[in-house]
Amino acid sequence: MNTSAYFLTEQDAPLVKSTLLSGFPELIQGTSTRKGGVSTGIHESMNLGFNNGDIPENVSKNYEIICRSLGIKPSQIVTAKQTHKTNVRIVTQRDSGKGVVLPVNYDDIDALVTNKPTYGPSPVLCILTADCLPVFVYDPKHMAIGLAHSGWRGTVNRIVPKMLEKMEQAYETDPNDVYLSIGPSICKKCYEVGDDVAEEFKKAFNRTELRDILFEGDTKGKYRLNLAAAVTVSAAGCGVLPENIENQGLCTACNSKLLFSHRITMGKRGTLASFLGIR
Ligand SMILES: [Zn+2]
Repeated sequence: MNTSAYFLTEQDAPLVKSTLLSGFPELIQGTSTRKGGVSTGIHESMNLGFNNGDIPENVSKNYEIICRSLGIKPSQIVTAKQTHKTNVRIVTQRDSGKGVVLPVNYDDIDALVTNKPTYGPSPVLCILTADCLPVFVYDPKHMAIGLAHSGWRGTVNRIVPKMLEKMEQAYETDPNDVYLSIGPSICKKCYEVGDDVAEEFKKAFNRTELRDILFEGDTKGKYRLNLAAAVTVSAAGCGVLPENIENQGLCTACNSKLLFSHRITMGKRGTLASFLGIR
């Protein structure tokens, strides 16, 4: 696995981009930061969540601004309907704009997949996070993409393998061919969990795997959890080549002035958005 593999674009509303995926110029990819938006207070300033108490007009304006950084229109974006479950939606051009300029007519969706349509650009997939892992997948052989929201629940319930399965069914994706990047998210140093969460991981992963995933905490009954390692193990178990897996290595909590962190703000915060599309 590659680490510290990201760079920030030099725009008023910058994007965090994957070094691995930037090798594919046909991809539209990146994660927003807190910078360059119009929201104020706890949402300052690039808040891209409509459901966290911010003024909707400001969020819409923020989407317009971040779309300029991405070189796309808000009407191309398709959001999920995140509930910490593992359902994957096959997105088509008919979904374009849902969650930003149109209402979302589906529920319980934490991962999105699509491929390059015959005519026109692919819809741009969008996942919202603030500590959880945005996981980008690209299959250049079939021009197919997937973007998942992998918090601890999604990770322990293997949302990334489920997304890869869906890509296999829909687009004949072979995990051997894909490139996977883990976007800005909480690092193991910042992510302390209790017995309840630790038990779930002990059930889901074997002892060898757990050596990279779960660590004793500073106090009894507390653990540190490496979600990126858990996603990496799960993806490698499906056949994704280790050299094609990247953790961008940018922690939302360590860098809470640049990024929104749920933990650091005790939930009083804006929301980051990750984007993936094919030109
Ligand atoms: Zn950290």
